[in-house]
Amino acid sequence: MFIGHYGIGFALKKVEPRLSLGLLIFGAIMLDILFGVFLLAGVEHAKIVPGATVVSPFEFYDYPLSHSAVGALVWATAGFLAYWLWPTGDRTKRKWPAFVFAAAIFSHFILDVISHTPDMTLFGNNSPGLGLSLWNSLAGTMIVELGLFSIGIALYMSATHSISSSGKYGLSLLVLMLVVFFIANIFGPPPPDMISVGITMTIGQLALVALAFKVDRNRMVNQPGKNT
Ligand SMILES: [Zn+2]
Repeated sequence: MFIGHYGIGFALKKVEPRLSLGLLIFGAIMLDILFGVFLLAGVEHAKIVPGATVVSPFEFYDYPLSHSAVGALVWATAGFLAYWLWPTGDRTKRKWPAFVFAAAIFSHFILDVISHTPDMTLFGNNSPGLGLSLWNSLAGTMIVELGLFSIGIALYMSATHSISSSGKYGLSLLVLMLVVFFIANIFGPPPPDMISVGITMTIGQLALVALAFKVDRNRMVNQPGKNT
């Protein structure tokens, strides 16, 4: 899945407005960023096979650290602990936002199980694989991804309002870029090699996270009964 993950990041702002959109999106796509890092490091592997599924030209045959159920649970727990135990500020008020951040991280696994063929393993390459193969349906992929993305943006916009042009037009830019990348991913040619995939997964997505942090700094959380 691609922009469906971003939709979850947007939506969770409504659940825990104290968390920046940047951090929520980072959590929702963290397993893909890690996959990019592990690809570039030669620790995990996938290959480009045009037509592997109707929507995605990849065969993911070795990515147990970033995309197994146990791996996702470990990363979500690490995210929870990192946020909760961060050395500055008041730790006692951070358990709930830490839990929401961890939920964002683990949501990635659930959404990928919906999209992928059964290549999402429980605990490694020799364990059972999960995957509902939504990627074999173009219409299904468009409906689910754009649906999640639209709901997420609607929730984010209902939870915040812009306090500067960066908050207003920055959000439009972020949404537009994500939709363009999503369409290009589906209808464009396959990537040339896995190195460029790894770079896109890491640097490309971290640039979008940085934009999300900037947008969120330029929007204010709505108070109940006001700013509706
Ligand atoms: Zn993924």
